Amino acid sequence: MANSWSETLYDAYAQQFTVDKIYFESKTDHQHLMIFHNALFGRVMVLDGIVQTTEKDEFIYHEMLTHLPILAHGNVKRVLIIGGGDGGMIREVCKHQSVRHITQVEIDQAVIDMAKQYLPNHSQGAYDDARVNIVINDGMAFVKETNERFDVIISDSTDPIGPGESLFSQNFYACCQSCLNPGGVLVTQNGVAYMQQDEVSATATKLAPLFQDWHFFTAAVPTYVGGAMTFSWATDDQALRQQSVDLIQARYQVANIETRYYTPEVHVAAFALPKYVLQVIDQTGRKV
Ligand code: SAM
Repeated sequence: MANSWSETLYDAYAQQFTVDKIYFESKTDHQHLMIFHNALFGRVMVLDGIVQTTEKDEFIYHEMLTHLPILAHGNVKRVLIIGGGDGGMIREVCKHQSVRHITQVEIDQAVIDMAKQYLPNHSQGAYDDARVNIVINDGMAFVKETNERFDVIISDSTDPIGPGESLFSQNFYACCQSCLNPGGVLVTQNGVAYMQQDEVSATATKLAPLFQDWHFFTAAVPTYVGGAMTFSWATDDQALRQQSVDLIQARYQVANIETRYYTPEVHVAAFALPKYVLQVIDQTGRKV
């Protein structure tokens, strides 16, 4: 019997994978990295005991965190990705010919190196795209110090544990806001609402004083267990979240990109949140 691996994100509950083969396992300068093969999900990347991405279901997460803000904005030229070492995010951003410049700030070079070697289907050569500029640094330090400006910022980080913790701080959100061009959008990985409701209320509380419009959108990613994952949305252009399916459809047509999860209808519907999530947001003092 192939051995198995259980996730350690939650004390009282865990998902388990059979492990047919381990491609890599080691402590990097920042975190414990493992990449193994599972019969159902293909190659799986784990950081500090938490599933980061799998070959089989990564498209859902990467399509929603890229095409939704880019097509909502409508004229994105410059994109900043924080984290994203597995390369799936830049693959999806690179599909947009309108995007002229992508900076990715990843704290751990080893994640990029091991993903290129053992998860080649994630980046699919995107790291070699002339528009891509890789910076190895802490995302918090980068947004604090950079004088570059971006139209979309995507925080594709680990959970708020270890190196990812600073990327869930109000200081990080405020620095991202100062790095956005007028009408720019910040979107972030914000945990699985049912399992990590404190992340929803914490992010809502931090975004509310900073941005004219903030909310969440969702998508269910099978290996982010416990239901739909929330992504935070923050911008000073209140119109961007109110767009019609027809407008998004027209932009999707022009973009002429292949997707397997994202559609203009899913885009608009993703902002509709379940009552219990709205109640968590309301408790932070804002009527939604
Ligand atoms: N899809 C995953 C999720 O939702 O949890 C995230 C995947 S991606 C592998 C997460 C990346 O964030 C990792 O490569 C990790 O090294 C990077 N990271 C963590 N903390 C960071 C920081 N402070 N600055 C930049 N990158 C960071």
